[in-house]
Amino acid sequence: MPEIPDTLFEKLNDMFGKRMKIDEDFLEKYSHDETAELKGNIPGVVLFPMTAEEISEVLKLANHYKVPVTPRGAGTGLSGGAIPEPGGIVLSLEKMNKMVEFDESNLMITVEPGMITSEIQKIAERYGLLYAGDPCSSESSTIGGNIAENAGGNKVLKYGPTGSHVYGLEVVLPTGEITNFGGKMVKNVTGLDMVHLLVGSEGTLGIVTKITLRLLPKPKFSVALLAPFESVETAIGVVPKLIKDSGIMPSSLEFMDNSSIKLACEFLNVNFPYSEAGAHLILEVEGNDRDAVADEYEKLGDICLKEGALEVFVADNRNTREKLWKVRKSVAEALMVYSPVHCMEDVSVPTASIPELLKGSSEIAAAHNLETIAFGHAGDGNVHITFIKGKSSEEHWKTHLKQALRELYELAKELGGCISGEHGIGIKRKKYLPIALDEAQIRLIKGIKRVFDPNNILNPGKIVDV
Ligand SMILES: Cc1cc2nc3c(=O)[nH]c(=O)nc-3n(C[C@H](O)[C@H](O)[C@H](O)COP(=O)(O)OP(=O)(O)OC[C@H]3O[C@@H](n4cnc5c(N)ncnc54)[C@H](O)[C@@H]3O)c2cc1C
Repeated sequence: MPEIPDTLFEKLNDMFGKRMKIDEDFLEKYSHDETAELKGNIPGVVLFPMTAEEISEVLKLANHYKVPVTPRGAGTGLSGGAIPEPGGIVLSLEKMNKMVEFDESNLMITVEPGMITSEIQKIAERYGLLYAGDPCSSESSTIGGNIAENAGGNKVLKYGPTGSHVYGLEVVLPTGEITNFGGKMVKNVTGLDMVHLLVGSEGTLGIVTKITLRLLPKPKFSVALLAPFESVETAIGVVPKLIKDSGIMPSSLEFMDNSSIKLACEFLNVNFPYSEAGAHLILEVEGNDRDAVADEYEKLGDICLKEGALEVFVADNRNTREKLWKVRKSVAEALMVYSPVHCMEDVSVPTASIPELLKGSSEIAAAHNLETIAFGHAGDGNVHITFIKGKSSEEHWKTHLKQALRELYELAKELGGCISGEHGIGIKRKKYLPIALDEAQIRLIKGIKRVFDPNNILNPGKIVDV
C-alpha cells in the first residue's frame, strides 16, 4: 500500500488547503464506484483541483514521489475505473464543472470535465441545439467520465457514442505536461487521431481538463413507441428487421425483458401497459417534419405488429415520452435496490446476432442456476445481461458467476462481438481481456501506456497491468 510521504502531504496541503480531504467519511465515499460486485480501496487523500495547472503540479509531484493518482468524475462507473490504489491520491474533477465557451457560429460547446452530462444537454437545448450524448446516468455522470469510458446510451444508434461528439481536448499528461488535442475542426488528419485515443482510455493516458463538443440542430419532433411482445424471442427477433425493412434509422431502439420492467415499475411505483408481457421494445424517431415523423413511426409500428407485437403505444408528447424513458432509465437503480449484489454486463455484438446472444446468455444463466435479467440498447447490439445473486449462497454465487461470465464473454466473441460495449474494462474485466484481444493488441495497449506514463502513476492497474 503506497504511503503518501509527509513532505508530499505537506506540499499538497499547502496547495489545496480545504480542497484536500482526509477524513474517513470522505475517503470511504471516494473508495469505490457503482460496480456492484467490486470492493473499493481507501485512498490516502482526495483532492479537488480547480485548474489544469493544479493537476499538472500534482502529477509532477506524484511522479517524483511515485504515488498513484486516480482521476474521478461522479463515480457512476461500472467497471471499477475510478477505484483508487489503496493509500493513493484521488483527483476529483467535480469542482471543474463550468462552461468555458458556447460557440454558436461553429455549433461547439467547450466545458470543464466535471460538468454533469444532462447540464450540457440543457444548455444546448436553450439554444435550440442537441447534445446527442445520452447515457442513462446523464443526470449524475460527468462529461469527463463519459469521455474516459466513451459512454454509450440511448441515442448511439443514430448519433454514435460520446466520442462521436468530441472534437477537442485539453489534457494533462501523466508527466504533468498540458497539451491540446484536436480543436473545432470538423476534419483533421494532422498526425495521429489522439483525441480518439484519449476517448475511452479510462483515465489511464491523461486527465481531461477541457472538452470541445459538437452540437447538432435539435430535431423539432420526437415520438416514442412502446411495443410489448409475448416473449423475449419475438421482441428481440424484430430488432434486426426494424431498420432493414423500414429503411428508417430510429434514434433509439431499447429492450427490456419482463423482469426488468417489473423491477423498474416497482421501484418507481408506477404501472406499465402489458406489464405481464415477455418483453418490451422502446423506439424513438426524430425529425423536423411532423408528417414525415408520423410516417416513420407508423411504418415502424406496423413492422412491430406484423412481427408479433401485442400492441403499439405512441408517446407523442414530452410528458408521456418522459414517463416511458423514466422506466427504462431506472432499471439499473432498481436493480441496486432489489439485489445490491449483482453483475451487470454490457457485451456488444453485431445487431443481427442479438437473438443468438440473448438465447445463449439465458442458457448460460440456467446452466449455472443464476437469476438473470436483460435490458439495454438492443438497436446497437449492446445488451445489459445481468446476473443476480438474489437468494443463492455466497459460495454458489462466487463460483458460478466467474464461469458464467467467462462463457458469456466467449459467446460474445464467437458472435463477432466484444466483452464491453460501453462500461469499459477497468478492474472488473481486466483478466478477461485476452478473450477479446490477441497478444499483439494487448502488447500495443501496454506499450502506449508506457509511452504516456513512464512511471505508471496514472490510474495504474486499469485495463492492463504494466
Ligand atoms: C444508473 C446508471 C446508469 C448508467 N447508464 C449508462 C449508459 O446508459 N451508458 C453508459 O455508457 N454508461 C452508463 N453507466 C455507467 C457510467 O455512468 C458511465 O461509465 C459514465 O461515463 C461514468 O462517468 P463518471 O463521471 O461517473 O465517471 P467515474 O465513474 O468517476 O470514472 C469513470 C472513469 O473515468 C475516469 N475519469 C473520470 N474523469 C476523468 C477525466 N476528467 N479525465 C480522465 N479520466 C477521467 C476515471 O478515472 C474512471 O476510469 C451507468 C451507470 C449507472 C450507475
